[in-house]
Amino acid sequence: MKYISTRGQAPALNFEDVLLAGLASDGGLYVPETLPKFLPEQIAEWASLNYAELAEQVITPFVADSIPTQDLHKIIQDTYASFSHTAIAPMQQLAANEWVMELFHGPTLAFKDFALQLLGRLLDYVLAKRDERAVIVGATSGDTGSAAIEGCRPCENVDIFIMHPHNRVSEVQRRQMTTVISDNVFNLAIDGNFDDCQAMVKTCFANQNFLQNKARLVAVNSINWARIMAQVVYYFYAAIHLGAPHRSVSFSVPTGNFGDIFAGYIARQMGLPINQLVVATNRNDILHRFISGNQYAKEQLHPTLSPSMDIMISSNFERLLFDLHGRDGQAIATLMEQFNVQGTMSIEPYRWEQAQQLFSSCRVSDEETVATIKQVYAETGYLLDPHTAIGVKAARRCRNSQVNPMITLATAHPVKFPDAIVQAGLASPELPHHLTDLFERQEHYQVLENKLTDVQQYIQTHGRFFK
Ligand SMILES: *Cc1c(COP(=O)(O)O)cnc(C)c1O
Repeated sequence: MKYISTRGQAPALNFEDVLLAGLASDGGLYVPETLPKFLPEQIAEWASLNYAELAEQVITPFVADSIPTQDLHKIIQDTYASFSHTAIAPMQQLAANEWVMELFHGPTLAFKDFALQLLGRLLDYVLAKRDERAVIVGATSGDTGSAAIEGCRPCENVDIFIMHPHNRVSEVQRRQMTTVISDNVFNLAIDGNFDDCQAMVKTCFANQNFLQNKARLVAVNSINWARIMAQVVYYFYAAIHLGAPHRSVSFSVPTGNFGDIFAGYIARQMGLPINQLVVATNRNDILHRFISGNQYAKEQLHPTLSPSMDIMISSNFERLLFDLHGRDGQAIATLMEQFNVQGTMSIEPYRWEQAQQLFSSCRVSDEETVATIKQVYAETGYLLDPHTAIGVKAARRCRNSQVNPMITLATAHPVKFPDAIVQAGLASPELPHHLTDLFERQEHYQVLENKLTDVQQYIQTHGRFFK
């Protein structure tokens, strides 16, 4: 399978190169040139597969040129062996035809584990084959950093350096990163804010001389195609369990960077009968403003009770724009250029109407988030995390059918975000058993000034590939 850039200028690449590349050289994002399509008869045959077996079926067409079947089999088996529930993505029923799919049974208790546990292993495999090494430099305000660290911990050929703003992430989030003791994992607490950390990552990518050709720099942020690919699997898994291909289902997805819900859109294009895809946002609602009013405009950031969805612009949105414009890379390059200058854009009405056919959208406030946690707990005794509560609220408000099952993706375990739970007047839940000693574990991190030269020097003196 070939992958092409949304801006039409960068060379087409195979899976292996897309995995290592991150952003395309023309500034675009890579997408498959054509998507694999599955027939209803084929989907029907998958009803008896467990999660890892299904993942193999869905992922194979994307990677077949680069990874032989038996190697992929082992990578996927190892990936999902790190989850603490044998169903991997178990479903909970909230009401008649209303479900949540729990995507928080991975090592760091959020859905990002589904993609990053796989990404780390794929990277390691491809690097070993090419006899190359990679350094990952990333910035995190919470979930992504811990999931990336857990995903790369077992990698022989990857060193990972994650910057977080010193004293500005929650204690659970910090400890999930800093208690991973491994000779390829480095936590840097930067005296600065998240934007300072992010800016240093960008500069590292722009000028990679500090690596002295000892390793390549790799991005693990949500624009990496392999992350989307891994997320397509659980849409199939949930839908098949509730009757696909004989019955279509709907999904409501708590959304920030548009990665997770874009995977649902891909699943639908691959032949999964999905009725409705609901984009659920918090107050940072750029996607809702686009879908409901054809205005894609950057606004100020508002901190909310669902911090993993606090974004100003959605980095994967360009992939949808590409399809809405008949995959015309030049048109996207022009549009993104305009957006970068003006901070706002609209598209031709007939294209926008197409987007409205594909997605519904809904914005949910902090007050509604807390009220939903309270209400669902009263109705069922089930405790939602604030991100998931946004999904449930959005599903209830904008579902267009009571016949199709509605599935909200539960993107995090409630223990990760106790503020909203406490505001709902409920007791914060206990840590799951594999993390009960999190607060006693030894932490390992280095505090550094907000200075690029200090960070790069740290990488050179501590990275395994510089020795
Ligand atoms: C990252 C994250 C999201 C948003 O996912 P996107 O793919 O960026 O839309 C939602 N909920 C939680 C808990 C997350 O960690």
